[in-house]
Amino acid sequence: MSEDEYNKEILEKVKGMIPSDAGNSSVEFEGPDVAIYVDNISAIYRDEMVIKNISASVKKRLIVRSNPNKLMEPEDAVKKIREAVPADAGVGPEGIRFVPEFCEVYIEALKPGLVIGKGGSTLMKIITDTNWVPRVLRQPTMNSDVIKGVRQLMFKESVFRKKFLGTMGKKINRIGNKSEWIKATALGGFKEVGRSSLLIETNHSKILIDCGISPEPGIKGHDANQGGENKAYPYLDSMNTTLNDLDAVILTHGHMDHMGFVPYLFKFGYTGPVYCTPQTRDLVALLLYDYIKLVMKTGGTPLYGEKDVRTMLTHMITRDYGEVTNVTDEIKLTYHNAGHILGSGTVHLHIGEGLYNIVSTGDMKYGFTRLLDEADTRYPRIDSLFIESTYGGPNDITPNRKQAEIELMNAITNTVKNGGKVLVPLFAVGRSQELMLVLESYISTNPQYKIEAPIYLDGMILEASAIHTAYPEYLRMGVQQRILSNNSPFESEIFEVAKGERGDILDKGPAVILASGGMLNGGVSLEYFKAMAEDPKNLAIFVGYNSVSSLGRRIQNKVSEIALPDEDGKMKQIKIGMQVKTVEGFSGHSDRRQLLDFVRNLRPSPRKIFTMHGEESKCEDLSRAMGNAMHCESRAPMNLDTIRFK
Ligand SMILES: [Zn+2]
Repeated sequence: MSEDEYNKEILEKVKGMIPSDAGNSSVEFEGPDVAIYVDNISAIYRDEMVIKNISASVKKRLIVRSNPNKLMEPEDAVKKIREAVPADAGVGPEGIRFVPEFCEVYIEALKPGLVIGKGGSTLMKIITDTNWVPRVLRQPTMNSDVIKGVRQLMFKESVFRKKFLGTMGKKINRIGNKSEWIKATALGGFKEVGRSSLLIETNHSKILIDCGISPEPGIKGHDANQGGENKAYPYLDSMNTTLNDLDAVILTHGHMDHMGFVPYLFKFGYTGPVYCTPQTRDLVALLLYDYIKLVMKTGGTPLYGEKDVRTMLTHMITRDYGEVTNVTDEIKLTYHNAGHILGSGTVHLHIGEGLYNIVSTGDMKYGFTRLLDEADTRYPRIDSLFIESTYGGPNDITPNRKQAEIELMNAITNTVKNGGKVLVPLFAVGRSQELMLVLESYISTNPQYKIEAPIYLDGMILEASAIHTAYPEYLRMGVQQRILSNNSPFESEIFEVAKGERGDILDKGPAVILASGGMLNGGVSLEYFKAMAEDPKNLAIFVGYNSVSSLGRRIQNKVSEIALPDEDGKMKQIKIGMQVKTVEGFSGHSDRRQLLDFVRNLRPSPRKIFTMHGEESKCEDLSRAMGNAMHCESRAPMNLDTIRFK
């Protein structure tokens, strides 16, 4: 596309609305947004209606900044900022960073509210005093190497980001023709769980919702290539187009089966944006770096390297729930809370001016959890709904949550009383925090459940919890308030961090071990399992989803013996003497009833329903049940099916 084809009218329109006393001004596209640079920034901030009016007239988010030659020298600006921000905001010595490429200053604080000030007054003072536009970041209450690393990377790549967003902005605002048709193609995760990917196409746009890999592939023993068919990756080769023709990748959340294939796209030529929430970005970084490490450790070859993950991260554009964003000239994206894990979002796409509306749930929880609010049911419009079916089968009714908690606590306390150890294999992100909240609540409020043994956290659980503390406003009110008042349940003294002392923990007496690696397909939980499996006093408790082919599922099904590689990679028979228990009710997925309730409570009601992300029979059964309940067309597509909407 030549540069001339993009919509310069929008920029002219914005320019025409800038108050004259703002002085010299320039306007440019910055990704999906419009950025204004002026000499006198106060002239624009003086009246909040100015920004609102401009923004409304071009239907875009507006970013206002000072011209670079008006910025105060950083040494002087730092002093002004430190004067303006109260000391108890907790801005560390490295907490203020200038990003001249964007004429912005990032202020990282333990209490962002104090940097913002009442009604934004402190921010305004910083702008008028220094001309730098402040952006406030929350410092997690626990050390998080991932958040540090991601933020560092974004600063370091500012020059690239500026250029990338500029080019992308022109592409999004190209002068497009009206689209006549819309279709969706199932590229992965239909009638199966794993490698989720859905391609949405019009005459002029191509976007992917999610692009995952099947649960923990690449690890030795994984069934990725069994039966001659590659079941680990989405069918991107069916797209009939080059990766660079893709306009955008939109992620619903940061689990491997929804985003694990994206770095591979970058490795093979994709250069466009990846949309996600800020929390998803951090969780993606955590899980992908860990995945690479894990594959290398087990002697495999990862699909991509850390470099490709970094490339992916620098192409990310983060959006909060409720923000409307043009991902192409004709498709608008809005995230709504999905309640599944931190930052998980359902994707609402508005295509054309009122032409068609699609909602894809990703993974979704419409029910009580201690960690998150349940999924949103209000949308401006829904024509077609794509909904997950993980627990969509007729028998997938999870027990009462309270009963599940008591069952879990009894199992743990009894094992410990009998001198055994308890292993809880957990997905580091989501289920771990949920379980920590349960343990913390019972132990601190109910003497009956006092556990006379240490509770260890091992693997990525700690880092994942730390990321949660950077985003308390996205957690359920009670947890949020505790983090904000310096009483984070994730830092409770009942938890001990396992620091390179796995042998010690295993040699000592009773213990409760929360270890990452939910399905035992690798990760630290497998190490513990190997060491604990033979002793009948020990107990393994499963609380999350185990895919059909996972080791977790086989053990849940009570196999008595299993062959696993030892430290030198030699296969060794392990007798399973330990007790094995599955406690349902803690899932981050909706059960059958919750899925049906969600659809019934959706406003407006969808006109067509498509089920996905579930074993074949569950997708089919749920589709029938939803069609009957809603008196609408419903279907369980299979991979490679294409659905035409218009
Ligand atoms: Zn998920």
